Amino acid sequence: MLKDIHKIRSIVFDLDGTLYVHDELAADTYECGVLLVARERGIAVGEARELVKNAERGLIENLEITPSLTRICFELGIEATEFHRYLKTQIRPEQYLDYDPVLVALLDSLHDQCQLYLYTNNNLALTGQILTLLGVADLFQRLYTIEFTWRPKPDAEALEFVMCDIGGPPESFLFVGDRYDIDLRLPDARGCSTLQISEVADLLQIHKLMHIIP
Ligand SMILES: [Mg+2]
Repeated sequence: MLKDIHKIRSIVFDLDGTLYVHDELAADTYECGVLLVARERGIAVGEARELVKNAERGLIENLEITPSLTRICFELGIEATEFHRYLKTQIRPEQYLDYDPVLVALLDSLHDQCQLYLYTNNNLALTGQILTLLGVADLFQRLYTIEFTWRPKPDAEALEFVMCDIGGPPESFLFVGDRYDIDLRLPDARGCSTLQISEVADLLQIHKLMHIIP
């Protein structure tokens, strides 16, 4: 929900599914979770896939939110550090992502008006690679990756650390993400503006509201 758009000074973006959308890359990441569960438990991949699905279902029922993959793996006994160490060795974003002139233009014009930040459950190595491939690595004031607190979104305490580190009242923040439960529910409850998007072109909504010409 967008509150007072004129008070916004800091825009905090999610990365995956927000600054780019790529089903195969998302599927590769999910598959890494499954393979790691299979390896750690010494079970077949099909069995691990069922375990991951069931853990996800259980978390949805208990927490009443859709959990992140890091959280699902944690539920199955895999620490976030271990999961991300594995992801770094397996995921190759350069196979899928390219320079995105639309994203560059949209973020560059916002960058003139606000400070831009990234808050993601992804790790620093992959985040850096992805931002460089997309062409937007230089536009962010700071990157809050999983290493910042090792507590995946949604996490109220981690959000507090991010907001304190950036500074400013809740009204000065706009959080942008593709998943309400993971990216936006807590910032919304804290009194920040939020915007849910499903493709990069949706970012144009921010420009329209702020009267910025991209
Ligand atoms: Mg996302």
